[in-house]
Formats: sequence, C-alpha cells, structure tokens
Amino acid sequence: MKRILITETANHVGKKVKLNGWVQSARRMGKMVFIDLRDVSGIVQVVFLPGNDKMLNKAKELRPEFVVEIIGHVNERPEKLVNKNMPTGKIEIEALELNILSESKTPPFEIVETEKEEVTEEIRYKYRYLDLRRESNQNMVIMRSKFNKYIRDFLHEEGFIEIETPIIGKSTPEGARDYLVPSRVYPGKFYALPQSPQQYKQLLMVAGFEKYFQIAPCFRDEDSRSDRAPDQFFQLDMEMSFMNQEEILNLTERLFTKLVTNLFPEKKVTYSPWPRITYQEAMEKYKTDKPDIRINKNDSNELAFCFIVDWPYFEPELKDGKHIPFHHIFTAPRTEDIPLLEYEPLKARSWQHDLVLNGYEVGGGSLRIHDHKIQEKILELVGISKEEAKEQFGHLLEAFQYGVPPHGGIAPGIDRLLMILLNRANVREVVAFPKTGDNRDLLMNSPSEVSEQQLKDLHIKLDLKK
Ligand code: ASP
Repeated sequence: MKRILITETANHVGKKVKLNGWVQSARRMGKMVFIDLRDVSGIVQVVFLPGNDKMLNKAKELRPEFVVEIIGHVNERPEKLVNKNMPTGKIEIEALELNILSESKTPPFEIVETEKEEVTEEIRYKYRYLDLRRESNQNMVIMRSKFNKYIRDFLHEEGFIEIETPIIGKSTPEGARDYLVPSRVYPGKFYALPQSPQQYKQLLMVAGFEKYFQIAPCFRDEDSRSDRAPDQFFQLDMEMSFMNQEEILNLTERLFTKLVTNLFPEKKVTYSPWPRITYQEAMEKYKTDKPDIRINKNDSNELAFCFIVDWPYFEPELKDGKHIPFHHIFTAPRTEDIPLLEYEPLKARSWQHDLVLNGYEVGGGSLRIHDHKIQEKILELVGISKEEAKEQFGHLLEAFQYGVPPHGGIAPGIDRLLMILLNRANVREVVAFPKTGDNRDLLMNSPSEVSEQQLKDLHIKLDLKK
C-alpha cells in the first residue's frame, strides 16, 4: 500500500490509507487512545478504538515524537466533533494497524508552540532539528524554498542563466573582513570565501552571458546585528549587460511585485511604481539613506519599497588619506562626473542603487566600470597602489581590455527580505541552521579545535598566549 500525505486524507473519505509521521500528542480517553499525527503536510487525528487489544496496548505506549506507520480508515466526523481550526478537522482516521518505527526521548521543549515562548534561543539552536519541527519553522523553511523557486522561475523566463561561482576563491572586497582558507598545497597562501561573487559575475559579462543570476552564499566576518548574520547570508546575485540603470531597477521591481502578490497575498505594496529617491533627497527629507516610507508603520503587512539613487561616489570623510566608496570599487562614476575624479572626487556621483524596504537596506547594486583606465583611477583614489592593483585585480583590468559590454547588476538579500516578509525579529530566524548572535553553531558545536596533524598539513602554528 502506498503511503499518502496527511493533507490528502480528506480526499479519501470512506477508504483505507497508509500514513507515516510523528506523534504530536497522545491522549487516553476511557478505553480509547487519540493521537494527533503530524507529517510535513499537516496534522490529522487518529483514534484507536477498543476491540483490537494488541494494537490498543501498543497505542497506549505512544509518546510525543514517536515515529509511526498507521493504516487506517478515513471516517467523516459527526457534525458536532468537526474541528474548524484544522484543515483535516472534518475527518478522523480510525486506526486498523499500528507500527512504531522509532521511539523518542522526551524532547527538551514542547514542539507545539504556545503564545508565550519559554524556551531559550540556546536550547532551540542546540536542538535545531527539533525546533525545526515546530509549525512556524516548518512554514518558514517551506516558504523560503517557494521564494527561491519563484525567483528562479521568473528569471529563467526573462532569459537569465543561473551560474555557480567558486566558494573557495580570491578575496573580493565588499567592505567586510574575509573568511580565509589556508592552502595546504601552497604554504603561506590563502583562499578567501567570497564576500560576494562580484568579480566573477562581471567576468561572466565579459564572457558574453549577458544575464546572470545565482542565489549566492556570501561570507563576511562581521559582528552580528538583528539584520546581519555574523558569518554568511544569501543574496540574489544578478548581473546584466547592455541594460541601463532604470532597466535593472524595473526588472527588480517586477520580480518582487509579482513574487509578493503570488506568495504573500496578505501583504500590500504601498507604492507602485516604487519611488526612486535620490541620496540627497533621502538625507534631507528622512535623515537616512534607508528611509521607512510606510504610511502606517504599525501595519506588519505594509511593504514600502523604494530605490535610493544618485549616490555620491565616496563617503565625505577620508580614512588615512584614502577615499572610501559608498558602494564598492567596481561601481561606475556617473558619466558626466568622470572629470570630477581628477580634481574634486568627493563631488563625483555614482551609478549606485540601493533597494530599501520598510527602513531596511535589502539590496544594493550599480552600473559597473567597464573601462580599465577608470577602474585604475578608482583604485588609485581608494589608495591601492599600482602593484597592489595588479596583484589583486590584474585579472579584471586585463579582462577589460578584451571587449567588455557595459553592464550592471543588483543583489537583493534573501535573508533580510524573508525576515520582513515573514515578520521575524531577526535574520537568524529565517535560515534552517543559524549561528547564535555571538557566532557559535550550538548544534554542530563550531568553531571547534582541530587536530595537530590538520594544523601541520596547513602549515599553521597557533599563538594563543595573551
Ligand atoms: N556585490 C554587491 C554586494 O554584495 C552587489 C552588487 O553590486 O551587485 O553588495
């Protein structure tokens, strides 16, 4: 007999079905046993009636989180026993056979969530596989999968090509610290995990793919905040050739407007089209470059997207005599401002665009430099010497001499968008396996020590005094 999912039971009234799942709760009532059975699709009530004593005795042993197989008869419930709060509330399963597939210790916390959360984040993350059994987390993980699928389908439809870029690669600066990976084969040399696939995606434009995307893991060694994980996050990384800024913004707007309408019908997008606000206007009017332009800031279903455009290229303050770009060093200066780079670089504006939602920066991008001379000029202004530039970015400067299309892109952050769309308090709550705010993985227990031999292989000597 083929197993069916719990949500399908309602279509099998009067028939025999086979179900698999976890015991959510078990209650004895007189000579009967009732359980709520849970699988990935939902919950259904199963009743064990007197008559088959062997089965009934086994049913009396059932405890929460046991894994079982049940063959049973799908019965319609009498009118007064219908449970309107359950999608399967009109039926119940009358058990005919019970098989215990695995037993469970008493979990360290209740899987059924209550209004008042009593369990700490430490315990939830240590037992994340149990935490993930909870309904809200099951929904989160499933929504995340639908979200990513929607993006993929939409972009394929628009002619984008999904391309994976290396995880173990070379440092690409996005303004954070790198996660380094020591090389075993080349003593003293290191790979870096990508802060973003920025250089690779630009090289893919040089390679002629024209429309690239990837749901890319990005690694930045930063202190954690509610909207920033301390280790890695995912972004929808996109790059396009022969498109102007407005075309890039328009595509982004179409994608997320459709996505929200289809996957989050309870949400309302306040403005259409999304306002394009200049950096100067944002600073003057809202005193921030991430304005929250919602009409009702208490409405958790309101989504007020906007783009911030027309950024100054550099931050107003130099650091150690070096210019600090607002975005990154691959961003193109606005064409009419290129001469300013020579004598008044702080006045030059760029083709940067940020995507802002409800006061959060949920993405950034720009049109890129595609002229190696301008790229060299920017590298000089940020204080990267000619030798360093050659060593760090020689490949890009060289590639730019072989016919490079004008290109640009954007990278909306998957975690931040989901945090807002799913009304979660922080980005940790929208990934399957989060680290704590202080960067520990309590489930796998990392970071952790490694063996002497591993260190030796990697030519590493620890200096832990201090
Ligand atoms: N690489 C940028 C970032 O990670 C996004 C972009 O410029 O497309 O913020």
